[in-house]
Amino acid sequence: MHLPGEKWQARVIEILQELIRIDTTNPPGNETAAAQYLAGLLTPAGIEIKIIESAPGRGNLIARLRGTGAAKPMMLMGHLDVVAADADEWTHPPFGGDIHDGFVWGRGSTDMKQMIAISAVILLALAERETPLKRDLLLAASADEEHGGRQGMGWLSRERPMLFRDVECAINEGGGTPFRVGEHTFFTCQTAEKGVCRSRWMTYAKGGHGAYPRGDLSTVTLARALSRLDDGHLGGRVSETMGRAMVLVAQATSDSAARRVEKLLGKNKIEAALEAAGFAAEDIGRHRPLFYDTASLTGLRAGDPQSINVIPPSATAYVDGRILPGQTSDGFLELLRQAGGQDVQIELYNGQYSPGLESPSDASIIRTIRQVIAEHYPGAQTVPWMCAGSTDAKHLIPLGVPVYGFVPGKPFPQGIEGAGAHAVDECVWLESLEFGLDVLYDIVYRFCAQ
Ligand SMILES: [Zn+2]
Repeated sequence: MHLPGEKWQARVIEILQELIRIDTTNPPGNETAAAQYLAGLLTPAGIEIKIIESAPGRGNLIARLRGTGAAKPMMLMGHLDVVAADADEWTHPPFGGDIHDGFVWGRGSTDMKQMIAISAVILLALAERETPLKRDLLLAASADEEHGGRQGMGWLSRERPMLFRDVECAINEGGGTPFRVGEHTFFTCQTAEKGVCRSRWMTYAKGGHGAYPRGDLSTVTLARALSRLDDGHLGGRVSETMGRAMVLVAQATSDSAARRVEKLLGKNKIEAALEAAGFAAEDIGRHRPLFYDTASLTGLRAGDPQSINVIPPSATAYVDGRILPGQTSDGFLELLRQAGGQDVQIELYNGQYSPGLESPSDASIIRTIRQVIAEHYPGAQTVPWMCAGSTDAKHLIPLGVPVYGFVPGKPFPQGIEGAGAHAVDECVWLESLEFGLDVLYDIVYRFCAQ
């Protein structure tokens, strides 16, 4: 086991606190300030730094610690921007970075300035110890992830693809999350993520007077079509990632449970397979989207309360769709049309489509991750997993860079829990930071040191 030591544990906390205090709420982002802060830490240690702005204030930092080049580079990555926080709703200031009750509080503390602080410390520790590396170790801290990465990783992958040339693998957000099934503890390693396919639904009908109702109002027709989406789970398919995950989870109980799960998955009996793998009822509900293309009604527009007596001639709905790897925009829109029926026009909204992605789950970095977790958290297993959301991985995987989500958090004991990503009172447990640094440092050391 290779450990960074206490001094560096303390540095992670300090760096995270400083990063939280630099307000990078997106929009507008202002990530350059955070990138410059990191450059100020890394440059004196002899680490090569580039800050690349896609637009004024939208800074992206690429740091490189040189190895001999005997093996291809590894990259740690994270986004510098955060979602908005309303200070009035928070128990402690969202941009204070204060420590209370064993947690660092603040927007970005779990999504995902903690990963950037941990990664910066790994580079600093390896540089200070002059650890000989067989490959370059990169840190990419990018802008604009919370708005799709158009000014961040999306921009870099289009305008500066050479930065990522030959990168063997990248470690990103989206996994490393502990979960329990029965007596067993697992850590997710994200090898797949869902894509996005957003749509606009429109209905038209003759307008008229509110005193004369009809069954074919644009509003009523739209409501009827939308209600056919039911709970928003469409299709149903078992990806390679989630198929393997379910069998591994079941196997922790018994081989016969694993065989039963495999059989159920083969018949596409998803909920039954989740149950047979040992998941509790509330977890089954939470994991179902990982097996379906999904549609959530998130916006509605029709009429005007000022004209409550007027029947509007048109009604519009906005539906956030999330699709499994392998699904296409045409395929998903067709599913929606089948559900919505003849009377509604459904089209892709604003070009908002990106496909789901899967990285190879037999890569050597995954073997390293599995070994390290088995040593740092005895009895726990690492399983491949899918992220229901979308991360910057979508910009890198098409360049040929496999991206794995693995920001290790420590399982909470009963009765302790902090608020997570995007939530009011977002905070990170100090023990999780310590665990995260220990685990990631060891992974990087084993993968990169000579
Ligand atoms: Zn994030």
